[in-house]
Amino acid sequence: MEAALAVRALAGPIPTIDLISPRDTFVYRPMAVTEPFGGTPYAELDLEDLHRSHGVRRIDGTVASVRAEERLVVLGDGEEISFDALVVAVGATPRPWLDGAVTFAGKPDVEAVRTVLDRVRAGDVEELLFASPPGASWTLPLYELALLTAAWIADEGLSDIRLSLATAAEQPLGEFGPSASRTVRDMLGDRGVRFLDTQVTGYDHAMVTLADGRSVRADAVVTMAELTGNPLAGLPADDDGFIPVDDLMAVDGTDGIWAVGDATTFPIKQGGLAAQEADTAASVIAGRFGAPVEPLPFQPVLRGMLLTGVTSAYLRGDGVASETAFSPLWWPPTKLAGRYLAPYLADRHELDPSARELEDRHPVRHAGKEREEMRRLAVEFAEADALWGDYESALRWLHTLEWIDGVLPEQQAELRIRWEQELATR
Ligand SMILES: Cc1cc2nc3c(=O)[nH]c(=O)nc-3n(C[C@H](O)[C@H](O)[C@H](O)COP(=O)(O)OP(=O)(O)OC[C@H]3O[C@@H](n4cnc5c(N)ncnc54)[C@H](O)[C@@H]3O)c2cc1C
Repeated sequence: MEAALAVRALAGPIPTIDLISPRDTFVYRPMAVTEPFGGTPYAELDLEDLHRSHGVRRIDGTVASVRAEERLVVLGDGEEISFDALVVAVGATPRPWLDGAVTFAGKPDVEAVRTVLDRVRAGDVEELLFASPPGASWTLPLYELALLTAAWIADEGLSDIRLSLATAAEQPLGEFGPSASRTVRDMLGDRGVRFLDTQVTGYDHAMVTLADGRSVRADAVVTMAELTGNPLAGLPADDDGFIPVDDLMAVDGTDGIWAVGDATTFPIKQGGLAAQEADTAASVIAGRFGAPVEPLPFQPVLRGMLLTGVTSAYLRGDGVASETAFSPLWWPPTKLAGRYLAPYLADRHELDPSARELEDRHPVRHAGKEREEMRRLAVEFAEADALWGDYESALRWLHTLEWIDGVLPEQQAELRIRWEQELATR
């Protein structure tokens, strides 16, 4: 969809754009994480809308093969469709990898997670572990499930349930860079989610084995799926079925064919990056249709909106800078941060009908007197909590102080070290 919207935006009304899809709706997968906790299911978008608004016609079908030399796509029923430019975005196939665990890959798994929550409520689960699959590159939904579970436990008034999250990554959501990682680590700590920086390797008889040799108890395990590629006959693929591409997303050894998103060999399988890849492909395609557009190299910027059950956190990282905020770092503030897809979705969900392209934003900083007052209160509350020996709460207030200014003043930074030590000795 992003590729179609981008080509239309860059090349105007001339190219005929067809979307081959076996479904007649677009499913907004990222919001599925809220549904086990009572979140309203997101309405599926009718692809006919894309036809009405952008002249993108849907062809009902599944691509069976591509005859690259002849520039033909062959559908499952044998129909042949010719093209000047082809963008392949067939995604990946989710597969369970841990026996005995509940695998969450979107809407079809909502009920299974609900069943785990029912077991928690019934007192049947005291140790609940969230485990990322081996080699997983996009684990944000797992953090959301853990944080949303923590918020749900608090809302339900349940106690004595321990939550843990295990991942091979050294830092929580380290792909966003150090600032984002630190905020997420603090958030997990605040909500009582233990972070285990090691890979889960097995699960049996309520015990999980970890790559570092340890074993921990888990009455239930929730995980994400392992992804394998969806190779298409006629196109190259690596051993796992992913399609190899160059830095302008052209499929290796072909002309006029691009691949984007989870289907490609690019390691991070994320919707925002899929959209950036689509923009790159679209820039080259629009140029071929005569539009005065320079090819836009794919320079990944990771944008993640983390649902926490309280305020959403916005994380952004480009390999150099890393930023976190509790106000939108891009607009429209959708989870699928595509240059054209985000405004399209924001319009359909009546979030902002005026946005044309995704724009990055600076975090909202509170100004003047208001900020001074917030700062004063945060320091006062932190010190009061520490006096009562409630270092956890005191540290949370310091965290709030850090959000206000983006940095902790020296005096409070020293207090943080001291209070963290106090907490550790308990
Ligand atoms: C639980 C969960 C939460 C997520 N949260 C986020 C998030 O917050 N932010 C974010 O950016 N990303 C998120 N992601 C990742 C994001 O959903 C994917 O990276 C993104 O959907 C990839 O887009 P895609 O177009 O490459 O593939 P897909 O979205 O998988 O789409 C591929 C489409 O191709 C169709 N198809 C497959 N084979 C064929 C064929 N042969 N012919 C025709 N059609 C075919 C499929 O039916 C499917 O509709 C999340 C993923 C999960 C599982």
